[in-house]
Amino acid sequence: MSGADGPELVAVEVDSDVCIGVGQCELLEPAVFRVDDDDGMGVVIGSGQLAAERAAAVIEACPSGAIRIRAGDT
Ligand code: SF4
Repeated sequence: MSGADGPELVAVEVDSDVCIGVGQCELLEPAVFRVDDDDGMGVVIGSGQLAAERAAAVIEACPSGAIRIRAGDT
C-alpha cells in the first residue's frame, strides 16, 4: 500500500537459481541487497522493500534477471 505523500513501496526478491553473483544489486541498493560472502549470491536483507522506481532500476541493472518484485506483498 502506498502512502499519500511517500513513494510507492514494493518488495523484491532474488531467484538464487538465476543469480550469477555480479553484485550490481548490492552496489545500487546496499540497504536492501547483500552479496553473500560464502556463495557469492545476492540475497535480500530486511524487508526487501524499496521505492518502486528504485526497484525497477535495480531489476534493470541485474545482468542475470534474478531480481523480481515479490508478488502478493502489501
Ligand atoms: S545483481 Fe543480480 S546477479 Fe548480481 S548478485 Fe544481484 S541478484 Fe545476483
